[in-house]
Amino acid sequence: MNLPDLKEAKKRTNKEVKHIYLNQEYDKNIFKNKKYFIRTYGCQMNVHDSEEIRARLESLGLTKTENLEDADLVLLNTCAIRENAHDKLYGFLGRCKHAKEIKKDLIIAICGCMAQEENVVNEIKTKHKYVDIVFGTHNIHELQDLLIKRHNKQEINVYSCEGDVYENVEYKRDSNIKAWVNIQYGCDKFCTYCIVPYTRGKQRSRLSKEIIKEVECLVKNGYKEVTLLGQNVNAYGKDLENELSFAELLQSVANTGIERLRFVTSHPWDFTDEMIDVIAKNDNIMNYIHLPLQSGSDRILKLMGRRYTKKEYLELFNKIKEKINNVSITTDIIVGFPNETEEDFNDTLDVVNTCKYDSAFTFIYSPREGTPAAKMEDKIDLKTKEERLHKLNELINKYSLENNKKYVNKTVKVLIEGVSEKDDKKAFGYTETMKLVNVTGGIPYINSIVDVKITDAKSFSLDGEISKWKIL
Ligand code: SAM
Ligand code: SF4
Repeated sequence: MNLPDLKEAKKRTNKEVKHIYLNQEYDKNIFKNKKYFIRTYGCQMNVHDSEEIRARLESLGLTKTENLEDADLVLLNTCAIRENAHDKLYGFLGRCKHAKEIKKDLIIAICGCMAQEENVVNEIKTKHKYVDIVFGTHNIHELQDLLIKRHNKQEINVYSCEGDVYENVEYKRDSNIKAWVNIQYGCDKFCTYCIVPYTRGKQRSRLSKEIIKEVECLVKNGYKEVTLLGQNVNAYGKDLENELSFAELLQSVANTGIERLRFVTSHPWDFTDEMIDVIAKNDNIMNYIHLPLQSGSDRILKLMGRRYTKKEYLELFNKIKEKINNVSITTDIIVGFPNETEEDFNDTLDVVNTCKYDSAFTFIYSPREGTPAAKMEDKIDLKTKEERLHKLNELINKYSLENNKKYVNKTVKVLIEGVSEKDDKKAFGYTETMKLVNVTGGIPYINSIVDVKITDAKSFSLDGEISKWKIL
């Protein structure tokens, strides 16, 4: 049994990160005719980890089911970023417990960021003994062995370490046109509110030659869009000697000929002019940037450890807007950081009024055990925080709608992905600038990039119709 240890998770040493190539082969008869159910919480990193987990489960012969009741194995890939992620997991665990009462040999496994938290694992050990396996973010590659060698007792195997990089990972991707590609793991920024550097380990970049090989392979297999993934993609390579910078990596990946290239998330502190130039000059690097603000108040930004001021953020924002044609910019904002005053909050609103973001993810600050901010005394009550969130969201939505309205009567390229959830006569897809479009007449063009004439705009989506189509 290996239990998570917060003190270990916090450590950063000079130990060299290993780039490991595993040679794992399994017998598909081991779990023949068995089914797995997987539920993923949280960010894109988790979504992509679940694609790795699926490939690992299928290497043992398991097949996917969407019904919990049909499953022989339930796997919950968890998120720890805010408290509500905990609530969601415990809520769903109740259903899993019930399913196991009916099907006694159901295997229940928990992994992901919550599995890296001491308090969570203690609770699973004492109150949720029906959970069979817990593993963390550093040992996804051990999943098959954990399942094969499992005894009839709770197996907890979580490592709190800086971590290594596994290079030849296989994925069972959810889409056959859009792919996530990890370029980096972990984070060393240690923003004072954030649990990620503890749950994901130190910042470790993959080798550029392996990233490029992976994208070349995706292009060959007909993928149209790749999103480079990391907590701080633009700090890529800084932890390796003789490696490309993020701007150079972007250029090299763009050179593979992938039709659409995106990246997420970039930290304002690591955003270079070179990066902006590469994005501006390559048509296949999408003119969409997610640029987290977190707060518009210099006082709060300092307490958060964000390493930039309001003025520096705005300078960067303006530079991006000037140099990248028709760029759309979205952001993340936290309200109610400990002792955020009305004046601090107004600074945030001021930045929103200046930047007029295309959209934003907004959150009420949630204390995470073990982080510096969680130790700060907080005099602001929840009602005030909720009111601020409401006010912020109204402003964000106003600008989203204003920005979206500029698209009406224009023709834009949309990668059509599937049938619209709201109306099965329409298809949905995304513009280059990452706007969701519901497309009349789009269903025959699923998996293609087509010209769509925008007919209407809402705060969160656009409506459009096929104007002329051309599969690129
Ligand atoms: N690495 C990215 C960055 O620095 O912008 C973001 C990673 S995090 C998965 C996504 C967002 O969650 C953050 O940008 C932040 O706004 C929000 N977040 C992180 N910790 C939080 C906390 N303790 N309470 C509320 N929101 C939080
Ligand atoms: Fe968390 Fe900050 Fe790292 Fe983003 S940069 S993952 S917010 S510590």
